[in-house]
Amino acid sequence: SCQARILEIESLSVRYGGIYALRGVSLSIAAGECITLVGANGAGKTTLLRAISKLVPSKGIIRFAGQSIAGRSPHELVRLGIAHCPEGRQVLARQTVRDNLLLGAYCRRDEAQIAQDLEEQLKRFPRLRERQHQLAGTLSGGEQQMLAIARALMSRPRLLLLDEPSLGLAPNLVREIFAILAQLRQQGMTMLLVEQNAHLALQLGDRGYVLEAGQMTLSGQASDLLNDPRVQQAYLG
Ligand code: ATP
Repeated sequence: SCQARILEIESLSVRYGGIYALRGVSLSIAAGECITLVGANGAGKTTLLRAISKLVPSKGIIRFAGQSIAGRSPHELVRLGIAHCPEGRQVLARQTVRDNLLLGAYCRRDEAQIAQDLEEQLKRFPRLRERQHQLAGTLSGGEQQMLAIARALMSRPRLLLLDEPSLGLAPNLVREIFAILAQLRQQGMTMLLVEQNAHLALQLGDRGYVLEAGQMTLSGQASDLLNDPRVQQAYLG
């Protein structure tokens, strides 16, 4: 493809003690692509996102926008343009919704733009506007997930990493979250999405990868993966 690669991963391995969580993983993402990562519990999906964010040490190559991220710290990566929306949301329960959102912009100094982006996120997530002065810990699970996504967007990312955004949510909220992800995709946001809900996630994605026991076993167009009997049998029930 002639599209610029925003993320390139080659031969990535992560070990916890003696056990490999990832072994020889390669993946690439072009600017504007939405990539779906599918895999069973414990396959290493969260570990891959954490390696990209430098939250766990890894071996191998990770390039972001053409540059190796070796030696970078997690907060430098946020400044470079990688935002990580972690599993389990991890919003600051004792701070207001609004302060959580502003924390997403902690690496920025452009105050006027930050105010504009805050307004944009409150427009995108009307439930958050209504609750902006409420403590984040009082939000429902789905609302906390929205807050986690909005907070990640406040860093103006060039790559958004999403770990199980639909986990534990009621079906109507899952639909609401996926509608927002579809809108982000249409606006050109580059995304790497980890999901148990393989069906919805592959419907959203341009391409997908399948991770099994720490290794990439399949990749292709998301529509082809949806129709692949191996994927259907293992992940689509
Ligand atoms: P899930 O869908 O259940 O979250 P996953 O695909 O995200 O699974 P990971 O969380 O990346 O999988 O875990 C991959 C493997 O690494 C698992 O066997 C897990 O037990 C192990 N692992 C993860 N974190 C650690 C850790 N901090 N110390 C030791 N082992 C770990």
